[in-house]
Order: sequence, then structure tokens, then C-alpha cells
Amino acid sequence: MAAQVIDGKLIAQQVKDELRAETARLAAQGKVAGLAVVLVGDDPASAVYVTSKEKTARELGMHSVQHRLPVSTTQAELAALVDQLNADEHIHGILVQSPLPAGLDQDAIFRRILPAKDVDGFHPENVGRLWQGHDTLVACTPAGVMVLLAHMGVDPAGKHAVVVGRSNIVGKPMAALLLKANATVTICHSKTPNLQEICRQADILIAAVGKLEMLTGDYIKPGAVVIDVGINPVPGFKSKIRGDVHFDSAAQVAGMITPVPGGVGPMTIAMLMANTLKAAKAIWGE
Ligand code: NDP
Repeated sequence: MAAQVIDGKLIAQQVKDELRAETARLAAQGKVAGLAVVLVGDDPASAVYVTSKEKTARELGMHSVQHRLPVSTTQAELAALVDQLNADEHIHGILVQSPLPAGLDQDAIFRRILPAKDVDGFHPENVGRLWQGHDTLVACTPAGVMVLLAHMGVDPAGKHAVVVGRSNIVGKPMAALLLKANATVTICHSKTPNLQEICRQADILIAAVGKLEMLTGDYIKPGAVVIDVGINPVPGFKSKIRGDVHFDSAAQVAGMITPVPGGVGPMTIAMLMANTLKAAKAIWGE
């Protein structure tokens, strides 16, 4: 194998250690950041995610509350909870776990969360601020990718970054962050012809497609930095996951590569915690 493997678990741990130190410093001044996670319905994967978010916040010394609402919750009831959390001075970050059950308007709920408490970075005001190049609360997964790159000493400036995927939660904010970091950015999607040719031009290749091991070694420029955001179940293997990149063939060609699991995944929760502390400090005027 030629590529250096990027250890997302280790880097996420370092981020969390720094956050723990900062929460302890602030706690000594009587300031405790608060995160509220809201889960509607009983989707088992979502329940695992919210529990782990709440637990991590506690471990880092933050105040953390979980609101579990039944699948029958109405738009008005969910909106009322968001309003209550918006007004709660002990809560600095609000996360409504997606996807919401059918019948609830997810975008309307994301818009209802105060931009200052929008630790998922999904509110249009924060998305707009990001594209205008301002400092703001940014979606956790792409923010985590930027931290991985920084830890590995990869400066995107002047590089050609290719992002495969244009979702609002990963592809688009990823492209905005790379652009802000002075990369030349190409965004690809399901209607892009010549995907392989474009990927092979990438100095930094970000895979956020949701297709098991689609990007094989022959999509990769020799020496490229390959970041695999994908989380895909492996058919026939319960609880086994793999990425959007075919790791074994890609690692023969790339200069650096993230594994799945253990690459981007651990960074997402770490960045949620970073966003919560950032939101709290902004609200406190720190
Ligand atoms: P979406 O399904 O919302 O978006 C997938 C994107 O990939 C779309 O823009 C789609 O194009 C594009 N795409 C699909 N098929 C192709 C193809 N054959 N060629 C080129 N582009 C294609 O997924 P998400 O962005 O939400 O997630 C992407 C992956 O990242 C998933 O595996 C998800 O599980 C994972 N993920 C991981 C996280 C983590 O913490 N590590 C967090 C969030 C997501 P089009 O727009 O044209 O349909």
C-alpha cells in the first residue's frame, strides 16, 4: 500500500481533548455550554446517533439534554419545542435529528432554529454566511474534513479539489469550505459525464456519494489526498460499513486516504461539540 492512512479516530480524540480543556476553563467561570438534541420517532439508527451525541457532550463537560418525541408529533408541537429551546438560556446548541418522520417539514424546522444556536449549520442564514466566506456555524461533517486536512498538513490553496456529491449536508458546504480555503473546486453529481476523468484530475478528492466502493483506484490521481465521507452498509454483513471509495485499490494510488470506519465518521460528532462550544462562546461574547 502506498498511501498514508489518515487516522480520524485519533484526530477526533485530539479535538475532543482540546474541547474538554476549554469547557473546564469556562466552567471555572461558571459558564457551561448546553446542547439539546431532539429525536422524533423511533428510527433505531437515529436513536443511536442522538444518544452518542448527548453522551459525548456530557463527557466533555457540557450540559446536555435529549428530547424524544413520538412519531405522531405534529409540526406545531415540534415548532413549539424549538421555540422553547431557542428561548432557553442554558441551551446554546439545538440539533433536530434528521430525517424527520414523513409529514413533518424538515426545512421549516431547520429555519426555525435560531441561527446562533444552529450547531448543524443547516439554517439558510449560516449557509449564506458560509458561501459569502464569513466565519459561521458550519455543517459538522465537512467542517471535520477541513480539520483532518489541517492536521495532515494539507493546504487546499491552489489545489484542484473535486467533490463528488452536492447534498446540502455534505457536498455543497464541503465545496464552500474548500473554496474559502482557496482551492479550485469542481462539484460532481449524478448527471456529471466523464466522472472518472474529472476525479483523476483531483489533488484532493472528496467522495460523498452514498454508493458502496464506487470510486476505485482508477478514479484517483497518483499522490492525491482521498477523503471518503461515505457510510454504506455491506450487503450480507450485519453492521459492517464501507465507504464510497474502494479502499484497497485507491490506497495503491493515493498519497493519503481516510479509512471507513475510522476516518471522517468520528470527526462529525467532535465537530458538533466544537460547534456547541463556539455557539456558546459567541452568545457569551467570548
Ligand atoms: P445524498 O444521497 O444526499 O447525496 C449524494 C450525492 O451523490 C448527490 O448529490 C448525488 O447526485 C450524488 N451521486 C449519486 N450517485 C452518483 C453517481 N453515480 N455519480 C456521481 N454522483 C452521484 O447523500 P449525503 O450527501 O447525505 O451523504 C453522502 C454519503 O456520506 C452517504 O454515504 C452518507 O451515509 C455519508 N455521510 C457520512 C457522514 C459522516 O459522518 N461520515 C455524515 C453524512 C453523510 P444528485 O444530486 O444528482 O442526485
